[in-house]
Amino acid sequence: MTAAVAERAAELMTKAGALTKGHFRLTSGLHSDEYCQCAKVLEHPVMTEELGRMLADAFEGETIDVVVSPAIGGIVIGYEVARALGVRAIWAERGADGAMAFRRGFGVTPSERVLVIEDVVTTGGSVKEVARLVTGAGASLVGFGFIMDRSREPLDLPAPTKALLEGRTMQTYQPDECPLCAAGVAVVKPGSRPDTK
Ligand code: ZN
Repeated sequence: MTAAVAERAAELMTKAGALTKGHFRLTSGLHSDEYCQCAKVLEHPVMTEELGRMLADAFEGETIDVVVSPAIGGIVIGYEVARALGVRAIWAERGADGAMAFRRGFGVTPSERVLVIEDVVTTGGSVKEVARLVTGAGASLVGFGFIMDRSREPLDLPAPTKALLEGRTMQTYQPDECPLCAAGVAVVKPGSRPDTK
């Protein structure tokens, strides 16, 4: 992904309130001065359409027949990538057994070339499951595209991977080494109100 693309993606995400600056306690317990709630940008169809086009452009030159996304987070951005590519969009979802599956009459055929799209990826578990569904049906994987890659370890996915934004560029701190704590700034657990911990 070029710097200009990442910069534009960050601009859209910031405008939508999906990327915020502050003092946050992450689920991991680490503190950060940035937080990403990716879904916030999906509230805005015009911005999401542009992000979808950027992800579609990242796979320019590839033949793609269908975009597949894991539900729920990937559905909206997957749909916009498919719109930009002029192909169909489907999703996989977890059933009562907890396994990812195609439902609602969705599916892929052995001749199809598939792009897997997700909004945020952390461990890559869901997109790996979707990839296994796709290859299990005999279809080919063209690649994986994400708005935000927040993985800490290499994802080790079975096809080329592109992300508009890389979460690993975000600075995190152990609480006892956090400069914002040292400065006495109240810490916020994202999605809740400031507290004093
Ligand atoms: Zn802190």
